[in-house]
Amino acid sequence: MVVPMLLMLFLFSCQGGRVQRLAVDGVSKELAVNRKENIKDVVYSLKFAIPLKRDSAIEASVVIDFSLSERDFVVLDFKPSYKLLGNGLRAQDGKKIENRNNRLKEHDREDSSDGHDGHDGHDGHDEHDEHDGHDGHDVDGRLTAIINGAKISLGIENEHIIIPKKYLKKGANSVAINFVAGELSLNRRQDLLYTLLVPDRARTLFPCFDQPNLKAKFNLSLDIPAGWVALANGKMIEEIFTAENKNVKDTHNLENDESVESIENIKSAEVISSAEVISSAESTEIISSVHGAKGFKSLIFSQTEPISTYLFSFVVGDFEIITENRVGREISIYHKESDPLKVAQSKEIFDLIYSSLEWLEDFTAIDYPFAKYDIAIVPGFQYGGMEHMGATLYSDRTMFLEESAIITEQLGRAKLIAHETSHMWFGDYVTMPWFNDVWIKEVFANWFASAIVSPLFPEIDHKLNFINTYFPISYAQDRTLGATAIQQELDNLQNAGLVYNYIIYNKAPIVMEKLVSKIGEPLFREGIRLYLKRYAYSNASWDNLIEILDSLSGQNLTEWSNVWVKKRGRPIIDVRLKGDSLLLNERDPFGEGAEWAEDVAFNSTTFNGVPNFDGTSYALIVPDSVLLDQIVFKFKHGQVTNDVARLSSIINLYELCDAGYLEAEVFLSFIESLLEKESNIIIYSRALSYLSSSLFRPYYEQTERVLQNIFLFSANRSKRSKEDQKGAVDKSENFEGKLVCVSDNSNEILDKSKRAMAFKAFLNVVTSSGAADELYKIWENPQEFKEVSLGERDLMRLSYELAIFFPQRADYIKEKQLQRMISNDLASRSVTLKKINSKIGVTNNLVSYSGVSNVRVEEFLFIFPSVYSQIEVRDSVFNSLLLSSNRGVEPWAASALSYLNHRTRQNESRHYIAPALEIIEEIQVTGDIFFPANWLAALLDGHSSAQARKIVEEFLDSSLNSSLNSSLGSNLDNSLDNSFKNSLNYSLDKSLKSSKSINPMLRSKILQASHHLFRNGQVRN
Ligand SMILES: [Zn+2]
Repeated sequence: MVVPMLLMLFLFSCQGGRVQRLAVDGVSKELAVNRKENIKDVVYSLKFAIPLKRDSAIEASVVIDFSLSERDFVVLDFKPSYKLLGNGLRAQDGKKIENRNNRLKEHDREDSSDGHDGHDGHDGHDEHDEHDGHDGHDVDGRLTAIINGAKISLGIENEHIIIPKKYLKKGANSVAINFVAGELSLNRRQDLLYTLLVPDRARTLFPCFDQPNLKAKFNLSLDIPAGWVALANGKMIEEIFTAENKNVKDTHNLENDESVESIENIKSAEVISSAEVISSAESTEIISSVHGAKGFKSLIFSQTEPISTYLFSFVVGDFEIITENRVGREISIYHKESDPLKVAQSKEIFDLIYSSLEWLEDFTAIDYPFAKYDIAIVPGFQYGGMEHMGATLYSDRTMFLEESAIITEQLGRAKLIAHETSHMWFGDYVTMPWFNDVWIKEVFANWFASAIVSPLFPEIDHKLNFINTYFPISYAQDRTLGATAIQQELDNLQNAGLVYNYIIYNKAPIVMEKLVSKIGEPLFREGIRLYLKRYAYSNASWDNLIEILDSLSGQNLTEWSNVWVKKRGRPIIDVRLKGDSLLLNERDPFGEGAEWAEDVAFNSTTFNGVPNFDGTSYALIVPDSVLLDQIVFKFKHGQVTNDVARLSSIINLYELCDAGYLEAEVFLSFIESLLEKESNIIIYSRALSYLSSSLFRPYYEQTERVLQNIFLFSANRSKRSKEDQKGAVDKSENFEGKLVCVSDNSNEILDKSKRAMAFKAFLNVVTSSGAADELYKIWENPQEFKEVSLGERDLMRLSYELAIFFPQRADYIKEKQLQRMISNDLASRSVTLKKINSKIGVTNNLVSYSGVSNVRVEEFLFIFPSVYSQIEVRDSVFNSLLLSSNRGVEPWAASALSYLNHRTRQNESRHYIAPALEIIEEIQVTGDIFFPANWLAALLDGHSSAQARKIVEEFLDSSLNSSLNSSLGSNLDNSLDNSFKNSLNYSLDKSLKSSKSINPMLRSKILQASHHLFRNGQVRN
């Protein structure tokens, strides 16, 4: 058939235009929808060769098998941390990577359009076949691929690899690609490596279809140093120790890791270049020849069930393994902990894992849906945990608790384990189709975690705990101008990380609880079972669940869900006394017409009632002045005896204070009188946490005094005369003595917990030199401080704070703390060390205690320079944090930034605010999902000055873009509730300088983190 030339051109340009539209940076929603329609039955067969040396590149290959409904071009996602150039690989900073010896520059953001190889990837370029290089990239800077048997070379354009239609066919297709693994999300350290690919970072590691609704089966094989271990999603089914390999020089050698570099001896590309047409099965074999050097071993893992790309994971390193087998189920913990007391906690961790699994199998009526369940506890892991099936990751801080850990910390760990385990069904088994609905998996995980853990801690009031866990933190964002709806718009997966916030983690469970109480638990369970069954190993949205529940319950839940899930903010409910009755009026603080129809329960129909006594209302409840006075009076006189009523009232009073309805001094004195009498540990901890809130930074003298006074409230107090008490308050040198008398409660455990909490809260507010002196004595001889047992982390923290208070002693503090940590560590590690050394057969890479082998020492040395008094030192620490390579362990970087911006050093640290805000987009690109918010909190929490506010304001003004202006600017000023408008000294209608614009989601995060700067000290008239 002859096609007219004009039509041919038209067809070609149509396709070209479509390619350009779909293959923009990131993963656009349009691309995702397009691929979902045409692509199915995806299987990835991945191989990675992990060298011992952390700065050697990782050779890798992938075979992607998939089926096309229609013959069409295919867009793969691939955004490695290097660029392909004509003369080889180049790191994003432009530095040439000579060979595999140079570590590819991590975390360096691609910041300009230069540097790409200049080819458009969609037009084939198969004429480059003969230019294969050593490394799977030909000399023209392209990847070598075998597509359905034809060998071609492909470029990377706009973070994509385009496979031209002419190589593809309707039905089954196979694409094999050799590549060097991108390192952005490899989290590579000296002695370990782990992937963390959520939300859209699988594409930074290997070429794939990186969207949650293109689930795939994964085959994985890893080459790793023989002394290391690995875990992955699938079961390890084969471990092959490679002896002499004829074709491979004896290069991989633990003693001399310089030689590891000659990985080019193991080049698959040469083999490929000699084969013009190869079947996909053959290509797998050829690519597997990357592996097999001496000193290494090959691990082969079983094929996974269909999983989303963000859940693909493997962990490699010199971990210790503890395995437990109960009820026919084998589970292993991989860890690197050296303290035997901490390692012993693995028993509790196993208990929690097994009981969570059992609970979930029972509730869902679905057996654990994956091949196996193992966890790795990673030092300095970015999050609390991450739910990779078969290779769930946890942070050491949350799993191995300090000796001083109080019951709420134990509960926190239990909840975290239950949370990640719940994800196996909710998130892993049934997954959201797109990351705008990522909150569904989080709300399920949180809701189920609460349900699972409650019976395990009968001593805790869980209703109270639910309120305490979710309401205050959710309000912390929902009260700000940066409030977002639970379900947010997401146009491109590259912004998916910005969806995560307290609203999805903390407001969503409250909304879920409302849903369950609306339809009843039996029906909810039925709906959940149906939902899991219908969408097994597949994807489902929130609306899919509401549909099911709508049909089961016969209620119209859609309307209800539209307000609670798709609108931002919380209702403001004014309560007025009129005659004998109470009048309630609901308002939308954003003036966007949301109608929550939220109810407020009173425990009395008269004005004597306490509003929201059952703790279920999610709202800012604004009583009129008569009611407010009565509520405060009742509290002061111990008349609110119901715990739930007391907690929800405290939360609301704090919110009223924040919104300017209640003066800070009144609130603080109210908290003081409450702490004196409070016997409930949850309420006690909430009240304490408010004392160290950034809202009260300007009142630090008062908060410090309140906390000091707490230590006076003891059984002995009544025996003392009023004068004695007064004297004791003023004499802060008796501080340590006072701490003994923290409470008159006869419950020893409760007393201990309260003391520990009060002590930690005190560290947040200490400002006077007298109190700092007492803290110093405690730090010098912690073993003599019997009232609170201080663990290593507590002492580290104390060291930082004290170095700030006593600059002249900073070096001494550092050395003494370091010695303490090293000698503790030596004692506990000597046994472990021998074991590790004999296992890997070397003696020279772990015995050094100069800092590298003990991760806490490393952390301490990283953070300590940020507390020095010399401004040049701190400036250089700050400047180093501006480079992504120095933010590799994000919790450490955030700690350093927060000490630089310590509350007592505001004047000296204000100049950090603007440059730290300037790089917020880079922080988003290079950091993990929670890091932008953590970075902003670390930067701004210590500041309370008007100057600091001005800097933030100026940044927001200069970066305000026009789209945001229409949604947050002009509308806002007319519609904002007075509680925002009156007290915000922040004019949104300033002329727009608009030097640059930032993503509105990032802007929300800045507004959330800087809220206290705009609220401090402002009282409503
Ligand atoms: Zn989660």
